[in-house]
Amino acid sequence: MLYIYNTLSKKKEEFIPIDPPNVKMYFCGPTVYDFFHIGNARSFVMIDIIRRYLEYKGYKVTFAMNLTDVDDKIIKKANQENIDPAIVAETFTEAFMEDIRKLKIKPASLYPKATAHISEIIHMIKMLESKGYAYNIDGNVFYDVKKFSNYGKLSGKNIDDLESGSRVEINEEKKNPLDFSLWKKAKPGEPYWESPWGNGRPGWHIECSAMSCKHLGETFDIHAGGSDLIFPHHENEIAQSEAANGKHFVNYWMHFGFLNINNEKMSKSLGNFSTARDILKYFSAESIRMLFTQSHYAGPLNFTDELLNSAQKGLEKLDNLKTTIDEFLKQNKPGVTPDFDFAGFQKNFELSMDDDFNTPQAVAVIFDFVKEVNKVILSNQSISPDFFIKVNNFLICTAQDILGIIDYSETGLSDRKLETDLIELLINLRMQAKEERNFKLADQIRKGLNELGIDLKDSKEKTSFKKVK
Ligand code: AMP
Ligand code: ZN
Repeated sequence: MLYIYNTLSKKKEEFIPIDPPNVKMYFCGPTVYDFFHIGNARSFVMIDIIRRYLEYKGYKVTFAMNLTDVDDKIIKKANQENIDPAIVAETFTEAFMEDIRKLKIKPASLYPKATAHISEIIHMIKMLESKGYAYNIDGNVFYDVKKFSNYGKLSGKNIDDLESGSRVEINEEKKNPLDFSLWKKAKPGEPYWESPWGNGRPGWHIECSAMSCKHLGETFDIHAGGSDLIFPHHENEIAQSEAANGKHFVNYWMHFGFLNINNEKMSKSLGNFSTARDILKYFSAESIRMLFTQSHYAGPLNFTDELLNSAQKGLEKLDNLKTTIDEFLKQNKPGVTPDFDFAGFQKNFELSMDDDFNTPQAVAVIFDFVKEVNKVILSNQSISPDFFIKVNNFLICTAQDILGIIDYSETGLSDRKLETDLIELLINLRMQAKEERNFKLADQIRKGLNELGIDLKDSKEKTSFKKVK
């Protein structure tokens, strides 16, 4: 049984999908006005792991991740650079797709964009207006939070507390400071669409209500995002969707803890803003994912270079084991199949993930497994290839396919074998060249391999090779 901590009930609850085996899941994706930072990356990677685990459990997941492609920040950037806001959004949507690919994040089932859903957005605002939840002041349409009796149920606050403590913008026009924009009247030079309230553009919150309803239905299983979105964004989504559709909106609300850099909130003004793209120049996707999986998704994570280095170091254990497995399998010698509790490790991995996606514990299970496998290897008995194939299968299932902290497809068994075979072929050709006294070609082969990070060592009987990079 899978348990998920639900921000709405503030409890871990058993996960029961509405229409098993189907699971509908929505994640509040980026506003595409810049490269995304390593904090965003944490949320994107963690939702990816959650989705992969649900799929491992046999669910058919429809995963929607929206892209906010019309917004104040996009317009500001476009004005600064003197280009069309649509170009800013397009450029950074492309960059987003490229970077999530580099982070080995499985593509979502769909990436709905706000600008492609203007008619659905207008339709929802019209419903809210007709039911008395929205008011129009000179082309600006606001949501009337006092009309929605459950306002505050997600963040656990009541309207009075929210009013006094809120940092929501004060706007003389609004009836209540907590009321928020559903439709923003067009200002000169801004992108706009026609609507019953005049030319304008949608507010941010209504986009997610309208798009999730269109693609996942009026009530769906999981809605996730960073913890910064609990209030007001998700609170407002609930108010909009439940008022418009008259139905319970989402069954499980999941929120990801914030990533801080050296104990400070990451922000451009603090100058500690690191894009995932920059970090990926120096560290592999696997190292970054390893760092993220080592802490629970809901808690804060303090990001430092040291942590990233140690995540990378930790992965060396998995790499070394991989090399050992490859060597054993290459020899293909018969041997005994040692007693080994593969099923027990698989069970423990699942129990950890079933407990609200406890990835730190799941990673610990993998490292225990590696330790035990190494003990078997060191016992010096001859071991059957079957054992190593099982080791390999466990790691591919857990560390690769679910957590994404190794990528055996890149340096996978078949690739590594092919690589070794090709190097050996070149070594043989070099030997042949030497026998034919074609020293120029022999040197060329040695030099070429050296440039690829492969050193050749000649001895009387044979030539061996070593990877130096
Ligand atoms: P944004 O582009 O800022 O709207 O963010 C896209 C997603 O990343 C949202 O789900 C945010 O809640 C999440 N997010 C933003 N900053 C952080 C952070 N520092 N740590 C974790 N998640 C974040
Ligand atoms: Zn949203």
